[in-house]
Order: sequence, then structure tokens, then C-alpha cells
Amino acid sequence: MENTALTDRFGRRHDYLRISLTERCNLRCVYCMPAEGIVLRPRDQFMRTEEVLAIARTFTDMGVKKIRLTGGEPLVRKDAAHIIRDLGRLPVELAITTNGVLVDEFVGVFQEAGLRAVNVSLDSLRADRMRSISRRDPFARTTANIRLLQEEGFHVKVNMVVMRGINDDEVTDFMEWSRHEPVHVRFIEYMPFNGNRWEWGKGVSEAEILARATERFGASGYERLTDRPNDTARNYRLTGGAGTFAIISSVTNPFCGTCNRIRLTADGKLKNCLFGRTETDLLAELRSGRDIRPLISASVLKKQAVRGGMDSFEKLSDPALHGANRSMVAIGG
Ligand code: SAM
Ligand code: SF4
Repeated sequence: MENTALTDRFGRRHDYLRISLTERCNLRCVYCMPAEGIVLRPRDQFMRTEEVLAIARTFTDMGVKKIRLTGGEPLVRKDAAHIIRDLGRLPVELAITTNGVLVDEFVGVFQEAGLRAVNVSLDSLRADRMRSISRRDPFARTTANIRLLQEEGFHVKVNMVVMRGINDDEVTDFMEWSRHEPVHVRFIEYMPFNGNRWEWGKGVSEAEILARATERFGASGYERLTDRPNDTARNYRLTGGAGTFAIISSVTNPFCGTCNRIRLTADGKLKNCLFGRTETDLLAELRSGRDIRPLISASVLKKQAVRGGMDSFEKLSDPALHGANRSMVAIGG
């Protein structure tokens, strides 16, 4: 019998869970982390190792087929290796999103756990720019670790948040990189969250990114690829490219119609949408000894059709609405 416990009012089946392992991070990216940092809370407000695993098991019982670990920076968590190994035993495809700095310490763990897909954030091909964007100095380790992952045969995607006047002049250099190496670059439109001082003037749209590709490579210099059913990115390849590039256009062209994602924050709250402001406290329910499945199904049923109810650009741009969400570092992107 088909498992419908994770199907919402619009017929979307949610079989992809993103788990944030921590709100902490070894970088301070300007688009993600508020300038003043985030308030660090006592450890007991966050999921312990066994709680992460118990909640993950419940979701796989309910039909989740893919789990991605994220954060904050998931690899700064002390028990990250333990969690990755144990999740590797569940019947799911396991993936991770990381800033790449600590990846060399985890390659063996990824291999043991059968984790093959690693998304690494890299916003510039220049060390000095990475310093100003991340307020730290990750460039040498992150780029060395991207090479290491490629050599070890991982499927590597590179996430770049495109920001006007900061790194947008490098968009076509990233595309060129995907011609020569089997790297899958994803350009992400700059999204609004609590504390990131968002204004769309700082963002670059999907249409503009494609216009730049056409300007540099010509309209026949790249081709549109077929996306997979729940892709959040529109995929392209430069002619003769070893890799691909893609655009995640959550601001100008959202892909909510095929969304299959739900999110678990590091403090054990279920968010049925990245942009949604409502949260369901699974950790409290688990700690009180009750079955968390009814809360999970109820949360999925409350999911809005588009961007947590911000169904127009005007609503998304309204600080009263997006400011009521968490900062990205505390959601788990
Ligand atoms: N620390 C890890 C990393 O940087 O990959 C995982 C967490 S991070 C929050 C996940 C992804 O969200 C990263 O690719 C990051 O670039 C992206 N991100 C964060 N804030 C964003 C924003 N305001 N708009 C678009 N993407 C954002
Ligand atoms: Fe940390 Fe990732 Fe946010 Fe950068 S994008 S501050 S690396 S969580």
C-alpha cells in the first residue's frame, strides 16, 4: 500500500528530509549569518546523537528516501562522524551540504557510510573575495577538498550564491570551470532571511545569469538539460562540458510545485518549508515519550502551496514576513 503519511494537500509526497546538525559554523558568510552572530543556546535545547537517529528512523519508516545533512556547518559537530555512520545504515540515500573546510577529515567516514553526494559552498574563485564574503579564510582548504572529493569519485556540486557587485562577475568563470572538470556548479539566487539585510538589488536573477552565459558563450554555446522530477535547479551544460551548471531561482521562479522537502532544525523543530514561519516541536514530543508521527503528518498537511505563503515577490520582499523566519544558519539550508 502506498504510504501517504507525508503527502500534503497538493498531492506532493515528501520523501526528502534535510537535517540540520548544528546552528554553529566555522565561517560567517554575509548572506547567511547575521553580522552580530547568532545567540548560542544551551546544549540541551538541541538534538542529542540518539535523538537525531531516532527522529531520522521515524521519517524513513514514514517513507523518506533521502536525507541530506546540513547546518550551520554539519562537520563542526563533535559527533558528526558517529551520526553519518549510523544514518548510513538506514535505507536512504545520504548526502551532505558543507562549506568544505573540514572535508578531508571525513572522506573515509563518507565512504564507510555510502555517502556519495557532497555539495560544497564556494562563492568565489578568488581567495581574497572568499575572505570578505565568509569573514574567515576558507579558500585553500575548500578548493583542495573539492579536488580531493573529485579524485575519490564523489558526486560534487558547488553552490555559489550570486551577489551583485560582490561575485557576479565570476558567474561565467564558474561555468567555464564546469567545462573542464566534472563539477556541477549551482548558482543560487540570493534569498531573504532574518538578519541578512536582504534587498533584491543585491541579487542576480536566473534570467540575468542566463543572459551572461549567452553573452560569453553564444546561444548555442550551452544547452538546457532535462531536470529530474524534484529538481530545485534548472540544469545546463556548456558545449563539450565535463560538468554542468544549474540555477536555483527561489526568488524569481520558484519550483514549489514539485517540492518534496521537509526540514528538521538542530533544535528538533520540523519546518515544512524553507520559507515557512511555522514550526513543529518534534524534540519536545519525543522527549515526552509520545509518538511523533501524528505531529509530522499534521505539519505536512499544513504546508502552503508556495514559499510558506509568500506567493508573490512583494510578500517575499516584505521584511515583516521574511524577518519572522529564522536566519539561514539556524534553519539549515
Ligand atoms: N555550512 C554549509 C554550507 O555552507 O554549505 C551548509 C549550510 S548553508 C546554510 C547551506 C546553503 O545555503 C549554502 O550553499 C549557502 O550558500 C546557502 N545559503 C545560505 N544563505 C543563503 C541566502 N541568503 N540565499 C541563498 N542561499 C543561501
Ligand atoms: Fe556557515 Fe554555510 Fe552559513 Fe556560510 S553558508 S555561514 S558556511 S552555514
